[in-house]
Amino acid sequence: MHGDHVLGLPGLIGSMNLLGRQRPLILHGPASLESFVRTTLNLTETHLKFPLHFKLNDAEKMTAIFNENGATISSFPVKHRIEAYGYLFNYEAIHLNIRKDQIQSLGLQRSEIIQLKKGNDVHRTDGTVLRTIDACHRKEKPIRYVYSGDTRPCDSVRAAAEGADLLYHESTFLDEKRQKAKETGHSTALQAGQIAFESGVRKLIIGHFSSRYRDEQLLLREAQSVFKEVELANEGMRFSL
Ligand SMILES: [Zn+2]
Repeated sequence: MHGDHVLGLPGLIGSMNLLGRQRPLILHGPASLESFVRTTLNLTETHLKFPLHFKLNDAEKMTAIFNENGATISSFPVKHRIEAYGYLFNYEAIHLNIRKDQIQSLGLQRSEIIQLKKGNDVHRTDGTVLRTIDACHRKEKPIRYVYSGDTRPCDSVRAAAEGADLLYHESTFLDEKRQKAKETGHSTALQAGQIAFESGVRKLIIGHFSSRYRDEQLLLREAQSVFKEVELANEGMRFSL
């Protein structure tokens, strides 16, 4: 709930409204997120034309909060000064060809096979759902991306990032400010590199730098001293996994 993470949210939601959004929007977070967003929208007379829902994250343990078509998103508590969360995005990638055994056992019609091969789930009139993830061959390994949130180095991030393809880890300070990082519930670039190394991720992105650092290369080099595959986060950047 710190300002650098939520103050932009009412504006973003207001823009969605102006751009004609109609689909429901679900926000996940701590309880105070709902009162903050609803109060701000009310006081600014932002009348939404789409439903807005809130769901509480589990403050105790990693919990799946979204599951659709092979994509699962889980939240997990991290260690900041206030309640804060990281997220694990897990995608069971599939080859778009139908498993022979499933054609018979599911009694697939031609039209259903065509939909499944396009990657679309099929909703039968009897209410059952044929999922592409069940009907198609899975790729050997799911694709995993982990987002740390604002946190001190912590075990929940380390565990979530185990073998992940990509880890975003906050890296607010250089290690010379390790004590300050601890007091403010943040990590240093060196600590972010250590977490990446220990959890065996393929690549690390660091971000959330203190504005005191004019030269972000210092943070990059420090993280790279323990883990080679590091990049600095930049708005709009894309990574293919
Ligand atoms: Zn914060």
